[in-house]
Amino acid sequence: MNNNINFKELANKYQTPYYVYDFDYITKQYQELKEAFKARKSLISYAVKANSNLSVVKHLGDQGAGADCVSIGEVKRALKVGIPKYKIIFSGVGKTDDEIKQALEFDILMINVESEAELGRVELMAKELNKVARISIRVNPNVNPKTHPYISTGLHENKFGVDIDTSKRMYIKAKQSKNLEPIGIHCHIGSQLTHLEPIKEAINIVADLVRNLKSALKIELKFFDVGGGLGIVYNNEVLIDTNEYAQTVLEALFGIDITVICEPGRFIVGNSGIFVTKVLYEKVNGTKRFVIVDGAMNDLLRPSLYDAYHKIEVVGKSENNCDCNVVGPVCESGDFFAKNIELPMTQHNDLIAIYSAGAYGFTMASNYNTRGKVTEIAIEDGDDRMIRRREIFEDLIANEEEYIK
Ligand SMILES: *Cc1c(COP(=O)(O)O)cnc(C)c1O
Repeated sequence: MNNNINFKELANKYQTPYYVYDFDYITKQYQELKEAFKARKSLISYAVKANSNLSVVKHLGDQGAGADCVSIGEVKRALKVGIPKYKIIFSGVGKTDDEIKQALEFDILMINVESEAELGRVELMAKELNKVARISIRVNPNVNPKTHPYISTGLHENKFGVDIDTSKRMYIKAKQSKNLEPIGIHCHIGSQLTHLEPIKEAINIVADLVRNLKSALKIELKFFDVGGGLGIVYNNEVLIDTNEYAQTVLEALFGIDITVICEPGRFIVGNSGIFVTKVLYEKVNGTKRFVIVDGAMNDLLRPSLYDAYHKIEVVGKSENNCDCNVVGPVCESGDFFAKNIELPMTQHNDLIAIYSAGAYGFTMASNYNTRGKVTEIAIEDGDDRMIRRREIFEDLIANEEEYIK
């Protein structure tokens, strides 16, 4: 995280609230992961949903990254900024026929299939277009969440992927089909992972499946996609060591000639970004102190949605801390950035920096309360530049105005 960003200068130049992303940090994170896998052919496929700003995606594409997409819109973003089609993967449990068709027409690397029913649709769409669909299958390795309670989200993610036996049936079907070509296998067991053990367990299960497919069914896959999910520091998390992570993957794949794909989102961009908002008022209700800022849940949803922790600082102040809630102007009690944290007393127009906001920040923003989405700024080599302009009222009504009766 870059601590030399001059938030005040940016506020004067671009107004508040804004997101600022340190592009040099993004490069560093990408390179770190790429380097960790250097013993093998690898593709770091950036999970576009974490931060899909075109300039961010292009910046990663320029380094050599591919794109992991979960809608055809994200595929189009990746293509738009020049990510080669052979580095683009399309995942997701609910692809529409139209999305599948477009992905086939774009001729991207592969469609990551998540159910038998979907495989049937992909085959049919490919047949209609007289094409061969390159596919991977997302396997749900059913890593026992009881032994690893820290990835308990794995339990709720059962909608993702298919079990091992189903995947075998699907690979057989794909191999026999004229319109399907199985080239990859995929697993992604969750997000913000901070323990290596469940990842190791999952990857070993999938690697065994790859060996089994080859020996028993003569299906040789080219791509082993280990998913994303590497955690980052929001507060005081102890992270998985990137080299250990890569080593674990490479060891699991010993003896298999296969290209590794990794799909990090949060790891690449999470700590590149800071959401900066300005203090409007302070008030005390009874004994509760509120710091009311001009940013809100529609700009950065994670605290409201996940009760997520983001480190918060008053720019240029660190004294006289006292307990408060930091809240926005949106008409919801759920509109907060932090509850019961210690912050210095603030004045009108003081800036508040909310850290670790580069992933799942802007991409989850909405126009709730008819609030325009905020400016996004890149910092690269010490220079700042706008990468998305602030939305104005006219943007917000553009798709409605002509329909007023
Ligand atoms: C969301 C997602 C990712 C990225 O997850 P992070 O936790 O941001 O690394 C990777 N792959 C798939 C299939 C995803 O859905």
